[in-house]
Amino acid sequence: MTELIGVYGASGCGRGILPIVRLQMPQARVVFIDDAAPADFINGHDVLSWSEFMYSPAGSKSVCLAIASPAVRATLAARCDHNNIPLFEARHSSVVQFDQVEIGDGACLSPFVVLTSNISIGRGFHANLYTYVEHDCVIGDFVTFAPGAKCNGNVHIGDQAYIGSGAVIRQGSAEKPLRIGAAATIGAGAVVLNDVPPGATVVGNPATILVRH
Ligand code: UDP
Repeated sequence: MTELIGVYGASGCGRGILPIVRLQMPQARVVFIDDAAPADFINGHDVLSWSEFMYSPAGSKSVCLAIASPAVRATLAARCDHNNIPLFEARHSSVVQFDQVEIGDGACLSPFVVLTSNISIGRGFHANLYTYVEHDCVIGDFVTFAPGAKCNGNVHIGDQAYIGSGAVIRQGSAEKPLRIGAAATIGAGAVVLNDVPPGATVVGNPATILVRH
């Protein structure tokens, strides 16, 4: 029986990630899963509800979480865990990864992502097009890097933070890492020079707090 891989999310993010999965797993049946399916068939692939996915016959099943929202990915990962469905890592062949990089399950690594050395990353990481993570960074669970986000060395990022498109995070140091708190949002194009509190939204150059949690 064939392997079934569900790409959760049939919107913009999912349509960008499904082709990566298809390239990685040419023998598998790759479908979208969506709780509010916009159509039954998108870009040549079936769109299933969660229950349709669960009841579909298959030799094995896994789920790729292809939704940009960190909180939604965390919720859907819990659903997968509860149902003993493993998370699938989407990784484009152009991804560059150097030494001693630990990365949790279920990441989505888009084309032209670079992860250098001595990096620890949690579950369900999204590194969208042209993002990088430099040396000695520690990144929590379900963190999203929108396209072009740049994270320099010795930065610690808490769970479910969202780094907007083109944002730049200045490097910290081994003694004093630059810290982005859990569930913080970094606006597109922001230049982050200082620590960001948990839950805060920062924008601009230099980035300043727009919303404090
Ligand atoms: N979605 C879902 N289950 C959820 C939350 C979202 O199936 O619990 C789907 C939603 O129906 C939509 C997609 O995920 O089709 C998210 O699309 P959106 O355009 O909001 O975000 P993106 O594709 O950029 O992540």
